[in-house]
Amino acid sequence: MSDSSHLMSTYARLPVGFESGNGVFLTATDGKHYLDALSGIAVCGLGHAHPKIADAIADQAKKLIHTSNLYEIPLQTELGDKLCAISGMDKVFFSNSGAEANEAAIKLARLHGKQQGIERPGIIVMEGSFHGRTLATLSATGNRKVQAGFEPLVAGFIRAPYNDIEAIQKIAENNSDIAAILVEPIQGEGGVVIPDADYLNKIRQICDQNNWLMMLDEIQTGMGRTGEWFAFQHSHSNDSLTPNDKPDVMTLAKALGNGVPIGACLASGKAAELFQPGNHGSTFGGNPLATRAGLAVLETIEYDNLIANAENMGRYMLEQFKQQLNDVEIVKEIRGLGLMIGIELEPAENKNHAELVKQALDENLLINVTADNVVRLLPPLIITKEQADTIIDTVSILIKTF
Ligand SMILES: *Cc1c(COP(=O)(O)O)cnc(C)c1O
Repeated sequence: MSDSSHLMSTYARLPVGFESGNGVFLTATDGKHYLDALSGIAVCGLGHAHPKIADAIADQAKKLIHTSNLYEIPLQTELGDKLCAISGMDKVFFSNSGAEANEAAIKLARLHGKQQGIERPGIIVMEGSFHGRTLATLSATGNRKVQAGFEPLVAGFIRAPYNDIEAIQKIAENNSDIAAILVEPIQGEGGVVIPDADYLNKIRQICDQNNWLMMLDEIQTGMGRTGEWFAFQHSHSNDSLTPNDKPDVMTLAKALGNGVPIGACLASGKAAELFQPGNHGSTFGGNPLATRAGLAVLETIEYDNLIANAENMGRYMLEQFKQQLNDVEIVKEIRGLGLMIGIELEPAENKNHAELVKQALDENLLINVTADNVVRLLPPLIITKEQADTIIDTVSILIKTF
């Protein structure tokens, strides 16, 4: 079927399509029900067809979908206020996707560099990172597969190994043209890689010492996924860290609209004053429909206490997986924070770990394998213990028998 389709061949799609959803469940075109432990890759944090989100979108569609950023958009202003209140950031630019949010961040870094008199400002980015598929963001991405064939890449990205502060310090000593660091608090596509507890705070210090912007890509980790609104806020509960560790720039997308396309680039302090009228823009970004969805998402996460649920269910799932899988030979490491869980398997030449995705599909479960051999689970924040148990049991059996 895919061969005769008129769709460009950008994805090797699994042979299943869905026509409706309800909470953590999806119903396929053939009537089968699936438990969605991936949430459209961390997008549908509130599950599918959430009544409050559906009502908000339907109501807004009947009132007003789009005007233009040439005019005031009260819902955009309101969502901006709320995002700044929960993050401690000062200003927001709304886009339609994660890549676009990162494009805004990259432009902020360059403006910041120019202000310091740097003619060709550089941005430090990490090995194994993922920042999107536009030319600038694929150039920032630390994965050759994403870049191959699209050279010349956008210049100005300097790469360091992830979770390696010394490497960043070395760049600081040898390169006076750096303007910013762009980094994921946890690498998602890179394999649910969790850095040392003080990694972000050390980056904060280095950025302060060198007058660089600290830019966090929270597109996958944000919106409650890891058990805090944003992953950088975890350090607040650690007494050894200063409470002053918010980034200068933070990007969001994925779960912000629960499936309605919306992204955001937030900035604090001096970084929040960099853009002036004419510097940046978007036709659709922050339109009434998308921002109404975003507001409904924030309200629902708060009202239903879903961040606490993400923390509790995430901790439970991690413990259970460790119990079930710790002695399994092909399991290299089990890691996670909140409902972002990765089970790294030993590389095996005779096995394609992506087969696990198909085997899970046969068990009516949607999972993902990323970075070749990491089973990645991103269940919705609304998940119950019973549903978590189904995921744990099914995935554990699949791995044990793989
Ligand atoms: C998904 C993702 C992106 C890209 O977002 P798009 O909406 O696909 O452009 C960027 N960074 C991270 C960390 C992501 O997970």
